[in-house]
Amino acid sequence: MFGRGAVLAVLSFAATVAAAQVTAIRAGRLVDPDKGTVLQNQIILIRGNKVDSVGAGLRIPSADKVVDLSPMTVLPGLIDCHTHLSDGAHSGEPLGQFTKTAAQVALESVPNAQVTLESGFTSVRDVGVYRALVDVALRNAINRGDIVGPRMFVAGAYITITGGAGALTGLAPDIALPWDLHYGEANSPWEVRQVVRKLAHDGVDHIKVLASGAVLTHGSNPKSQEFTPDELQAAVDEASHFGLRVEAHAHSPQGIKNAIRAGVASVEHATMIDDEGIELAKQDGIYHDMDIYDEERIHEAGRNGKTPSEFLEHDAQLGQIQRDNFRKAVVAGAKMSFGTDAGVCPYGIAAKQFAFMVRYGMTPMQAIQAATSNAADLLGRPNEIGSIKPGKFADIIAVSGDPLADIGVLENVKFVMKDGKIYKQ
Ligand SMILES: [Zn+2]
Repeated sequence: MFGRGAVLAVLSFAATVAAAQVTAIRAGRLVDPDKGTVLQNQIILIRGNKVDSVGAGLRIPSADKVVDLSPMTVLPGLIDCHTHLSDGAHSGEPLGQFTKTAAQVALESVPNAQVTLESGFTSVRDVGVYRALVDVALRNAINRGDIVGPRMFVAGAYITITGGAGALTGLAPDIALPWDLHYGEANSPWEVRQVVRKLAHDGVDHIKVLASGAVLTHGSNPKSQEFTPDELQAAVDEASHFGLRVEAHAHSPQGIKNAIRAGVASVEHATMIDDEGIELAKQDGIYHDMDIYDEERIHEAGRNGKTPSEFLEHDAQLGQIQRDNFRKAVVAGAKMSFGTDAGVCPYGIAAKQFAFMVRYGMTPMQAIQAATSNAADLLGRPNEIGSIKPGKFADIIAVSGDPLADIGVLENVKFVMKDGKIYKQ
């Protein structure tokens, strides 16, 4: 293995590093979410797509490019751990999927990805799509450089019981769905394993299961539980064979605890989590990924007649219950990540959630950590993203003003670099 080929490979790697473009960024203030500190007057050197070095006294070598962000606050690229970028144009009605081909849905999703990146989110964990595998195609097109978007970590499909929270419901029983609109349907531990195996083969990055009913699904009850503990354990165990983590949608207290006991990485929404649930999640280091902003948009769309009235009935009181439970989880010291359910909200406005996280108990630094270092940890990629450190991807944003004094400045990101490349300046 260490013959001539290996030597040539090392030489060609060295040549690539030497030839990589060097960019220097002068950062007036630099947020380090790993330590929860803000450093003054730092220089960041970027070689190719990676951070090379960071420090106050760094000499700027013959950089190809110097970016002066000295009047600004520089942060690692933000990470939204709960998006749906791949369902096409924003709409409140899942049955709208029947008016489009899969190609239409995919092409309509291209601007969703672009505005997300331009708003400062350089990575997303995309947690499900109605038309199976459109998210895989979108991720791959971004990675090839064909279109502009964040790093996407995708689920491929929803794994759901028949007629469950992740199913396309509300149709007459004699309408047969095409394969890609019921790809993730499963009704036993072995069927769950089969879907996980198919998704792993299709190249997904993580697995999404639905452990309770949903707000935005016809005929669903968010207070119910869906998959049984056996089925959830099968999902987590089978996913682990492929090195994949599992996130569980769960609103109801029992659905949440079933998911936590099964060993998921995060509970999505966690709306009606009770004290026992918070304690169990804390013991096992499971993240709460609570979308406490989108309530505003569900109701605004309801007033405009764009949210079906059935969904508004499901949602009654749940928004406030979720926000109160978010505060409880923060006070308890539970692990918190940043997830918005973008797709329920219009795309590109996810940062509006930061102000709500602060209003409901977080410090501004905790809110930033939820969307950076904690999110990277939840994704299993703490060595690649989540902070600006040597060896990590050069995913860097900047804002005017001080987000630790006014978290709202994150809604107006002025500079975006992803993978060493500038997308907004
Ligand atoms: Zn969602």
